[in-house]
Amino acid sequence: MWLLPVSDSDSKASLVRDVRSKDFVTETISQNRKAQYRMYSRKLAARISLFTLRIRITDKESQMKTAIACFSLSLLVLFSIPAMADEPNSTKRLVLIAGRPSHPPRMHEFNAGVQLLQKCLKDVPALKVDVNLNGWPEDEQVLEAADAIIFYMDGGGRHEIVQQNGERLKLVEQWLAKGKSIGFMHYGVEVIPKQAGEEFKRWIGGHYENMFSCNPIWEPNFLKFPEHAITRGVKPFQIKDEWYFNMRFISDLPGNQRETVDEMKFQPILVATPDDAVRNGPYVYPKGPYPHIQENKGRAEAMMWVVERPDGGRGLGFTGGHFHDNWGNDDYRKVVLNACLWLAGVEVPDSGVASQVSKADLDAHLDPKKQR
Ligand SMILES: [Zn+2]
Repeated sequence: MWLLPVSDSDSKASLVRDVRSKDFVTETISQNRKAQYRMYSRKLAARISLFTLRIRITDKESQMKTAIACFSLSLLVLFSIPAMADEPNSTKRLVLIAGRPSHPPRMHEFNAGVQLLQKCLKDVPALKVDVNLNGWPEDEQVLEAADAIIFYMDGGGRHEIVQQNGERLKLVEQWLAKGKSIGFMHYGVEVIPKQAGEEFKRWIGGHYENMFSCNPIWEPNFLKFPEHAITRGVKPFQIKDEWYFNMRFISDLPGNQRETVDEMKFQPILVATPDDAVRNGPYVYPKGPYPHIQENKGRAEAMMWVVERPDGGRGLGFTGGHFHDNWGNDDYRKVVLNACLWLAGVEVPDSGVASQVSKADLDAHLDPKKQR
């Protein structure tokens, strides 16, 4: 349940609070002194107002104020019961979908990666994480129950999401229209523009485009982070990965700063500046260098970004995730775990998601692969 002052109901982001604690209710009512409050059911979707609670609070009559606040609180509790019965569980569901094995051992370990993330998230309150291994779910019902889905898999022309003659794209489109959230990690951010480029721009604000984006293996130094729930508790870090950059972003944004485009809020999270040697290549494939990448020398590039769509859904792109052992880096892992919570609509703790990963955790669930 949410409680919003009526006059502020449009600025939902800053005012949405969970009506669970009695202290919060009395505090909100007595401090805000708005004449009307409206209760919303999270389950019934944000914009459906269950009822309007009218109260009057005057500064002069403190006794009256207390009495009204108490009366309001009982009204709230009274009205909350049937509504909460309709909302038995506020737990958010995140589904991590891993792609099939590819690449040598400890690279593109999607199956092991999602299970490691799931383990790190197991104690987060109000979040249930399911994993789906080896590609597209056999039972597509898994989408229906999810609040957010993250795809960690290979992409390009063989991206799981473009198979079945566009049926999967349509399915995801319908699901996202309900305000659900979606993310793609590593190779999963790459699609062929005419297959799913427009969809990716609308869903997550951009995508990797072959011969426009590039995929060098390099070691960005993430020194500063924007003020955002996803960066909570993340300390500066530097780590080698196949960090793709120069995505094809919506409206051809460079992507290195916050923007709003067609009511979509675009926010870069991990930004660093590649040096000239990185721009000059070679990239992993095709080796390049591409003149347009070299010409942007000195420009900061986004390697994780998020969007808030006008329909209320959220999107995430993360271009790291090539080397499995990078999950052993606390800050690299934390920024992704925080992103999982944010995408699913779960409050990120002030110091971010706490987790520990051992050597055994990193060795667990690896796909059987031949050493090359
Ligand atoms: Zn890779």
